[in-house]
This record gives sequence, C-alpha cells and structure tokens, in this order.
Amino acid sequence: MLIAIPKEILAAEKRVAVTPEIIKKYIDLGFTVSVEAGAGEGVFISDDDYRNAGATIETDVEKLCGQADVVLKVKQPIFNEQKNKHEVDMYPDDSILITFLHPAAPGSHEMVRRLQKKNITALTMDGIPRISRAQRMDALSSMSAVTGYKSVVMAADTLPVFIPMIGTAIGTIKPATFLVIGAGVVGLQAIATAKRLGAVVKVLDIRKTATVEGDSLGAKIIDFDIPQELVTGRGGYAKSLDPDWLAKEQQLIASVLKDIDVVILSALVPGEVAPLLITAEMVAMMKPGSVIIDVSVDQGGNCALTEPGTFMQKHGVNLCGIQNIPGRMAVHSSWLYANNLYYFVENLFKKGLDKLDLDDEIVTSSLVTYQSKIVHEGALKAMK
Ligand code: NAD
Repeated sequence: MLIAIPKEILAAEKRVAVTPEIIKKYIDLGFTVSVEAGAGEGVFISDDDYRNAGATIETDVEKLCGQADVVLKVKQPIFNEQKNKHEVDMYPDDSILITFLHPAAPGSHEMVRRLQKKNITALTMDGIPRISRAQRMDALSSMSAVTGYKSVVMAADTLPVFIPMIGTAIGTIKPATFLVIGAGVVGLQAIATAKRLGAVVKVLDIRKTATVEGDSLGAKIIDFDIPQELVTGRGGYAKSLDPDWLAKEQQLIASVLKDIDVVILSALVPGEVAPLLITAEMVAMMKPGSVIIDVSVDQGGNCALTEPGTFMQKHGVNLCGIQNIPGRMAVHSSWLYANNLYYFVENLFKKGLDKLDLDDEIVTSSLVTYQSKIVHEGALKAMK
C-alpha cells in the first residue's frame, strides 16, 4: 500500500501532512511512503530528511498521486493551476483520501461530488468525534490550541500598549485587559497565553462548566445568568441562544467593553453559524487602539465588522478576521497534525492494510464519500 503526500497548493499554506518521524511509523505499519519534492519546504523539512526516514521523493505530483492507494493532505483538494487539473482528478479511482475537507461548507460541495464520482473513499479530519479514545487523532482541537495561542500573540503585536503591569520611573503602567468570549479549546488556550503575558483576563461563555475551566486558568468570570438547560445540547456541547437571550448577552458584553483592550472571539455552536455577539455600535464603544481577533470568522464571525481574511481599523479599533491561523505557525501545527493523522490512519487500518474498519464510530463520523455515495450527514443536509 502506497501512501502519497503531495505539497499543499492552497495560497500561503505552509503545513505538510507528514514529518520524517511519522514516515518511519507508517513504514513500521507496512506502508510504503512517497512525498512530493519540496512538500516540507514551508516547515524546514528537506527532501533528504524525508529520504533518510525511508520515503521516496517524486517530482511530478500527477505521477505521485496517480499511483497512490492513500493520499494524505492538510487542506481540501483544489484546482491545480500549474497542472491545469483538479487535485481530485489526479487520484486513482477507488483510492483513499484523508484530509480536512469541511464537506458541509458551500465551497466544498463541488469537490465532494468529484470525490463521489471517482469512488474515492474520503475521510475528513474535522469529522473526528471529541471522545476520549479519539483524543490523539483530534486535529481540530490541535489546530484550535495553536489558534488560541497565536491569536493572543497577534493581538499583542497589534496592541499599542504594554500587556503586563510595568513599573517605570514615571509611574506604574496598568496591565492590559483581555476578554475571551467562548471558552472552548481556542478560548482556554487564549486565556492561558494572555495570563502568561501578564494580562488581566476575563472570560464569558454560556456554559458554566466552560467558564469554570477559564477561572481555573486565572480568568475572572463575567457571569451570564442563563439557565443551563437552555444552553446545553447533545454531548454537552453548547446550543444556540434564542434572540432574546442573545440580546441579553450582547447587553452584558456592551456593559464591560469600554474597559477592554483585547477581545478574543471564539464562540461557536458546532455545525451552526457563529453567534453575533459584538455589533458595529458596540465596536464604536471600545477604546481607540484596542483589538478584536475574531477567530470564528469562517463561521460568519462573532463581530459584525470583521471580514474574512482582513485586518483593518474601524472606529479606531483594530479588527482581525485573519483565516488559517494554524498555517501561521506551520512547524508545530504540522507536527501536531502529522501525529493526529498517523493515529487516525493506524486506527483506520487496525484490521489490516487491506481492510478499513468501518464499524468504528471514529471512522464512520469522518467518512464523507464511500462506494460512490456521499455519506456525510452535514454535507448531505447542506447539499440538498
Ligand atoms: P469549541 O466548540 O471548543 O468552543 C466553542 C465555545 O463557544 C464553547 O465553549 C461554547 O460553549 C461557546 N459558545 C457558544 N455559543 C456562545 C455564546 N453565545 N456566547 C459565549 N460562548 C458561546 O470550539 P473551538 O475549537 O474553541 O473553536 C472556536 C472557534 O474558532 C470556531 O469558530 C472554530 O472554527 C474557530 N477556529 C478558527 C481557526 C482559524 O484559523 N481562524 C482555527 C481553529 C478554530
């Protein structure tokens, strides 16, 4: 069984799906591995590093993918301008593809149909359930942890004031205040990072259990008095708020916003559009020079004024809707992702290399196309 790893071609994507140490592990499982020349360039891994780990290097991506049994990637396949061919059309019929596919997103539907037509067994890394057995495979959580850290570092770089308390001969400078809204994986890592930088940190989440975790990392809880049965859905995940409660939450946020230097927005209910928590009028209430990092921007954003892929100023407030934050910290993102992917592949083939374990909930919830059918619930619903 040949595993092929092409170079990522999405603009500015530096991550790669395997590291040399992981190549050795695939070989131990019984696979042979071939990597496209230059695939590791963005994370300072040379072709020789891959060769020394036991992989072969292929310069022609069509040839590489054309002989693959399994293609491993980071991002969804797209049209390859240089080859004038869609990446999916380079994969053999009946092969296996594992990557982040985001199959329900409108921009993915055409690609999912291509996978279906070619009878490719496609598995998406964003479909892995957050259960304890799948923790080592949970690439979404890994990328969210990177995002939580990096969002605070990006805010620190933009903020025109000190973050920690600083004593000077002129007087003492007060520490900056961060507000983290949404204390999931991104939010908790953001709290920990902002605390390490010396900020005063506040946390708001609709789930009390999440705010308690924020509190244990040193954040002050902004108490939103909402009955917990209204916010807790299946598997302990959050549920969307009705318009009245959403308006109450916006009022609560508005009442604290004028004292905040940085807002990290990471509120999301899985599978839904992100709740709008900061309106344009609320942005105007903020201190000039303050910063909003809206990491939920791909899901519609928690702030009315942030736009995907942009960094701009409005009302004197710095608004960041930068996408693909993990791609900005490509070395550790690739290391985490390559490990998550390896454990996923190991689990997928645990019954033997010629047999996918399709009875496993981790596999079924990640499966997007199989036997020329689209089988992913979210994609089917979105594509109706
Ligand atoms: P998560 O599911 O772990 O956490 C989301 C949190 O939001 C939960 O704790 C939930 O209770 C909370 N929440 C839901 N509705 C809320 C509301 N009305 N008010 C306050 N809190 C609310 O998700 P995560 O892994 O932390 O990801 C958070 C966001 O970051 C998602 O939108 C995700 O797509 C995004 N993300 C972006 C990037 C990027 O590069 N921009 C990378 C990773 C994740």
